[in-house]
Amino acid sequence: MPSSDLPSIIADARRAFADHFGAGPTHAAHAPGRVNLIGEHTDYSGGLVLPMAINAGCAAVGRTSGRPAGRVGIWSVNQNEAATLDANRLGPGADWHGKGWSSYAAGVLAVLRDRVGHDLPSMEIVVASDVPLGAGLSSSAAFELSLCALICSMNGFKLAPAEMASIARAAERGYAGMPCGIMDQLVSACGVKGHALLIDCATETTTPISLAPLGDLAVLVIDSTVKHTLVSGEYKRRADGCEEASKILGVKWLRDASPELVASRAGALGDELHRYARHVVTENARVESFIRAVAQGDAAEVGRCMAGSHASLRDDFRVSCPELDAIVDACAAVPGVIGCRMTGGGFGGSAVALVRPEALDASRDAADLALTTRF
Ligand code: ADP
Ligand code: MG
Repeated sequence: MPSSDLPSIIADARRAFADHFGAGPTHAAHAPGRVNLIGEHTDYSGGLVLPMAINAGCAAVGRTSGRPAGRVGIWSVNQNEAATLDANRLGPGADWHGKGWSSYAAGVLAVLRDRVGHDLPSMEIVVASDVPLGAGLSSSAAFELSLCALICSMNGFKLAPAEMASIARAAERGYAGMPCGIMDQLVSACGVKGHALLIDCATETTTPISLAPLGDLAVLVIDSTVKHTLVSGEYKRRADGCEEASKILGVKWLRDASPELVASRAGALGDELHRYARHVVTENARVESFIRAVAQGDAAEVGRCMAGSHASLRDDFRVSCPELDAIVDACAAVPGVIGCRMTGGGFGGSAVALVRPEALDASRDAADLALTTRF
């Protein structure tokens, strides 16, 4: 990539490195955040998802240092804080749950060390991200992947992008304690410029999807700036609930259940698990319809899929919130907006809209107005 195309966040990280460690880094890596177009809360049920990498990401810069082997000093520009970790003696992942951002770094170091099968040297690292943290745009995957890619390049480890995604996911699940699927890490590692990435989370296969048949459009991300508490607890409740539902229905992946099977076992599932299962199977079908509609240039059907996804996340999966509902309602009503829905884990975070370029200003204004007048 010519240096003029390098994300400016890398320059920010380099400057912070000089401030913090007193000299220049020798290596740099960058990984993007993502926005999910459709297929929400289905990745941990082996479902289909359609995220795309975005032009915001996390930069990680570093060098090896002469300190005792395994001593890793990481400065996070975003957290304005340092963490010092002993990469070769990190202890069990569960000990790190609830320990904030250093648990993500500890997870990447520990899992990577296990996969390459030998100890890590001492390193000095700075991370800087222009993905807003906790806004549903996967700052966590961008952080994990940039760190993983940096450590690989500093140490000459040759890992495929999908392998790095698997390490990052294991780090987030095992150390940060977030029972996530593979979507965020896989699209951050394997996203293709100018395309969304269809991921079958049961097989972890990826297919780039061009949105070009829909004609000129912009992908608008609207950060509600709302962060509701208990997000990780509510997320875990959904992930556990989906697993339980798949056992009751006798399928390996909940996405494999047919709508008829889900309906016929409503009594055995009970209200909550029935709603979760209905969301997963209908959302999976919506991803398939969305892809077909994109290929046919059928913007109206794309919009219906996004509206259906939002309604299902709001009513069946119950991960939306009044602020996101207001943004989506306001945006969807603007002429030139193809479709709009909440995106990411929910309980606050962001909405995504597919918008004709000439309707960008009006949809942004509508979202702003919805938030400022109602909340
Ligand atoms: P999202 O991934 O949607 O932004 P998450 O709650 O999954 O939200 O991840 C956010 C967390 O990831 C932060 O609270 C922090 O612990 C960690 N994180 C992300 N980016 C950075 C960063 N640049 N520096 C330190 N920690 C980060
Ligand atoms: Mg995340």
